[in-house]
Amino acid sequence: MDINKIREDFPILKQTVYGHPLVYIDNAATTQKPRCVIDLMSKFQLESYSSIHRGVHYLSERATESYEDARKTVQNFINADFSQEVIFTSGTTGSINAVAFSFGERYVKKGDEILITAMEHHANIVPWQMMCERKQAKLKVVPFDNDGVLQMNEFEKLLTKKVKLVAVAHVSNSLGTINPIKQIIEKAHLLNIPVLIDGAQSIQHQNIDVQALDCDFFVFSGHKIYGPTGIGILYGKEKWLNELPPYQGGGEMVNCVTFENTTYNELPFKFEAGTTNFVAAIGMAESIKYINNLGIETLNAWENELLNYAKLKLGEIEGLRIYGNAPEKGPIISFLLDKIHYYDAGMILDKLGIAVRTGALCAHPVMDIFEVEGTIRASFAFYNTKEEIDALIQGLFKVKEMFK
Ligand code: PMP
Repeated sequence: MDINKIREDFPILKQTVYGHPLVYIDNAATTQKPRCVIDLMSKFQLESYSSIHRGVHYLSERATESYEDARKTVQNFINADFSQEVIFTSGTTGSINAVAFSFGERYVKKGDEILITAMEHHANIVPWQMMCERKQAKLKVVPFDNDGVLQMNEFEKLLTKKVKLVAVAHVSNSLGTINPIKQIIEKAHLLNIPVLIDGAQSIQHQNIDVQALDCDFFVFSGHKIYGPTGIGILYGKEKWLNELPPYQGGGEMVNCVTFENTTYNELPFKFEAGTTNFVAAIGMAESIKYINNLGIETLNAWENELLNYAKLKLGEIEGLRIYGNAPEKGPIISFLLDKIHYYDAGMILDKLGIAVRTGALCAHPVMDIFEVEGTIRASFAFYNTKEEIDALIQGLFKVKEMFK
């Protein structure tokens, strides 16, 4: 893999920040876009832009074709059985809220339970909490151990007939832990309990095959997989999507509307009310093609090498504590340095051109468990280099020096 050549595809990475070469290692928050994605979206808007699924005119048909091709690209990427199992949403958050609302309306009653884990992003906590409040159901939480490994014995204890749905992150955005989702899905299915996988931090780092996983729902965001913002995917098995009621009403999701009664459109349109962000959908398909061309396994191998190198180098800094030491990890490292506030460290790193995430990482419960307010998080993408990790390490020594 020629990193220098790959970096040429990401013009944003070339800049200097405060006189230093930009080191962008905040990829778990959002990823940079290759030129082909930016170019395709602008080409589409310059040449083919028009309302989709609505007109019979030339531009509308062309735009519709591009949008439906994008859906097929996503279908192939995650190996969904049918293209109508792929719903375009606004992102992971939008997808989880959709399932929480629709599933709650259809299946959840007083006293039922929803099972999540203690390492979820707020996006995979709050929508379930809101639904549980509406339905007088209970939210149950599987704990993790000191290394950030999910306690599967506790999962098995909590997995009872009362549970109506399990929702779990494939990879934790705060700890980096890769959860044993295949095992979770198998165990839940023994009791006929459906499972939603939050793939926001896994889709960009490994091959996802929703049929092999046998998950009921799989959700992710375009902007974390080198695509645009404002677009995401809700994959759902057809049998569920057919049974669930729509979560938003409006144009396109209907078959026939009278003031007395409305019938709904077929899948996937039943869940795509209004004018969707079709420009972003087309951009996201281009980012998937870009990744496919490079080969996700090749990218993943490099990201793992970066992770191991960073773990080794960070481990050499006295007073640095890593939060999340699961043996199976995505390229995400949360840490704190001595008693230095994450905000101070982040500010100094920024002045050295290094972009890391600092704070509670949208995971307050994780921070509470470790009794910290927040952490510093470095997260890697395939366009990162070992030299950039060296820059981070030097930056951290500088931080240490300044707070001596
Ligand atoms: N789940 C996880 C694991 C995440 O990392 C994120 C984004 N940080 C989300 C959900 C929410 O994604 P979005 O903001 O794109 O909806």
